[in-house]
Amino acid sequence: MAEKFSRLQIHCCGDLLFHLPHRYEDRTRITPISHLLPHHPAVIQGKVVSSEIAMGRKRSLLCRIRDSSGFIGLRFYFFTTAQKNQLTSGANIRCYGEVRQGSSGLEIYHPEYDLGDTDIKALPQTLTPIYPATDGLSQQRIKNVLNQALDQLKQNPASILPDYLPPLFCKEHQLPSLKDALLYLHQPPPDAELDQIADKQHPCQLRLAFEELISHRLSLLKIRQQMQALPAPALAPQTLPTQQAFTERFLQKLEFKLTNAQQRVWKEIAADLKQPVPMLRLVQGDVGSGKTVIAALAALRAIENGYQAAIMAPTEILAEQHFITFKQWLKPLNIQTGWLSGKTKGKTRQQTLAALLSGDTQLLIGTHALFQEDVGFAKLGIIVIDEQHRFGVHQRLELKQKSTRSNAALSCHQLVMTATPIPRSLAMCAYGELDNSIIDELPPGRTPVKTVVLPDSRRNDVIARIRLACKEKKQIYWVCTLIEESEQLQCKAAENCADELKQTIPNATIALIHGRLSSQEKADIMAGFKAGDIDLLVATTVIEVGVNVPNASLMIIENPERLGLAQLHQLRGRVGRGAIESFCLLLYHPPLSAHGKARLKVMRESSDGFVIAEEDLALRGAGELLGTRQTGDIAFRIADLQCHSDLIEPAQAAADLLQTQANTLITDALIKRWLPQGEQYAQV
Ligand code: ADP
Ligand code: MG
Repeated sequence: MAEKFSRLQIHCCGDLLFHLPHRYEDRTRITPISHLLPHHPAVIQGKVVSSEIAMGRKRSLLCRIRDSSGFIGLRFYFFTTAQKNQLTSGANIRCYGEVRQGSSGLEIYHPEYDLGDTDIKALPQTLTPIYPATDGLSQQRIKNVLNQALDQLKQNPASILPDYLPPLFCKEHQLPSLKDALLYLHQPPPDAELDQIADKQHPCQLRLAFEELISHRLSLLKIRQQMQALPAPALAPQTLPTQQAFTERFLQKLEFKLTNAQQRVWKEIAADLKQPVPMLRLVQGDVGSGKTVIAALAALRAIENGYQAAIMAPTEILAEQHFITFKQWLKPLNIQTGWLSGKTKGKTRQQTLAALLSGDTQLLIGTHALFQEDVGFAKLGIIVIDEQHRFGVHQRLELKQKSTRSNAALSCHQLVMTATPIPRSLAMCAYGELDNSIIDELPPGRTPVKTVVLPDSRRNDVIARIRLACKEKKQIYWVCTLIEESEQLQCKAAENCADELKQTIPNATIALIHGRLSSQEKADIMAGFKAGDIDLLVATTVIEVGVNVPNASLMIIENPERLGLAQLHQLRGRVGRGAIESFCLLLYHPPLSAHGKARLKVMRESSDGFVIAEEDLALRGAGELLGTRQTGDIAFRIADLQCHSDLIEPAQAAADLLQTQANTLITDALIKRWLPQGEQYAQV
């Protein structure tokens, strides 16, 4: 039985009590038969007046029941002889089921029923909970066990599920105690507001969600503490005219001036780096806001202090783009820069690893190959993770271990950068262990991308526009978004699209890029596009992140309705990177739902990633917005980031207070209660 319960994630009495009904049945009152309506469930009580085998299309047992108000039929397609013998004329019966229109008038199919002296049997005092069940674990089984747990909760709550939240917390938000909340949700009174419960807005649900959000935050704080358990090198600025003053020298040579936002964020980072505590900072900045320079500055600050830096990007293309940019930027500084990806093999790989271990390589750029077992550093000071929404907190915990291995007594600084701005409330949940810096300003001279929403019946107009753009030596992205699950099919569809465009626009150079190409092929194509050898690049969403081609000024996105707003915004950020006016054509496939229209309208009207993220949260919900990265990290049992968004900030504040005031037994117990898997990560 324990094994069966564990399939429902129930491992102890506490888990059991948090296994809430997904709906309720009202069996607290008897409905006169004459009041019954089809499609409504009801309890009725009466006498069996007849019972016979009916031979319709399928053999069945039909019993007619009468009360003082009328008649109804009970129909059984499956029945035992014992049942047939019990349900004889004159028997008293009370039954429950959904009423429907049957061949004999109103009928209840396969009701639950009770025979005997039904008059003296008490009706339940509370609504009947219906629990999510699983194979081999019936509703009744779950109820029996739960009732025992509920009895214990009534008698001695502290023994089974202590209420760890200070009563003041709940009072402040007018929320009930843990015990009262659970008793109510398992056994609501007949007049309970079921609509409110269905909307997850009942104070009893809010009480549980509040506790869960608090616990979640506590676990992030715990992770933060752990990541900061070991000291990190204090990295002070080196000042000119010292040769080693790399950040200063880099800034002097840079062909542009940092924006105010970049300066502010760099100041925040530099202040963190000066401390002998690992920096844990997230930089959020819209596409094109100039995060790469910030990464360079942070890396150089470590290097000028004699430490190594590592920069990691999620894809080969991006990592390689960084590698090229950095080599160019860092050439005058004579900094040894290494490259490591999954493709680095054999002797090259050995040499790369040796140079890292000896400390000769000062800066390492690469993909998540940097995580691999055998990669060790001599003196790793900082790791920068770009476009991190693909890396989870757990992967970064591994990183901590990596730097610890390189120097047992020291941890390293972490800078995480994301171009997917997320609303504040979500950031606190998803990245609660990180401090937050925001680059909320684009470099000067950018003209915002003009976005046009068009039905795909206007495809020919779009083609005409592409022809014109090609003539003017402008470059174009054509993004195919496909619903097929299989990558192979996606690539095939993109291939077809490219072929078709090649036929309709014969004098343009058209290339195709998708996920099934080798990274060398992808890199070659991107290089060709960057160099201007390719006019039109047909792509699947692989070009989503970070790729920089300033001369690309037109983007067509096919079926934009299939993508999230954040993702569309990311894609659109590939154009508008230079001085020329850029356009993004959203070529949707009609008919578009009202919801779909609203979403594309947001894209047309806003170019601010934060505004778009807020809208996306409202329109699609947190899971979609955060994408795959966080779905594993924030799997709430009861809290719902959308329904309970008002609770998020109070919960954060409460958690911060608990963290400083309560003893760790309590905070650990809360983490354990709500995030059993947190044991692994937060080592509670
Ligand atoms: P993202 O934040 O999307 O990673 P990048 O770092 O790739 O943005 O920057 C986009 C482009 O803007 C690059 O060509 C970069 O050199 C340029 N850039 C960054 N900061 C500035 C600035 N302050 N002034 C002018 N151009 C800048
Ligand atoms: Mg970038």
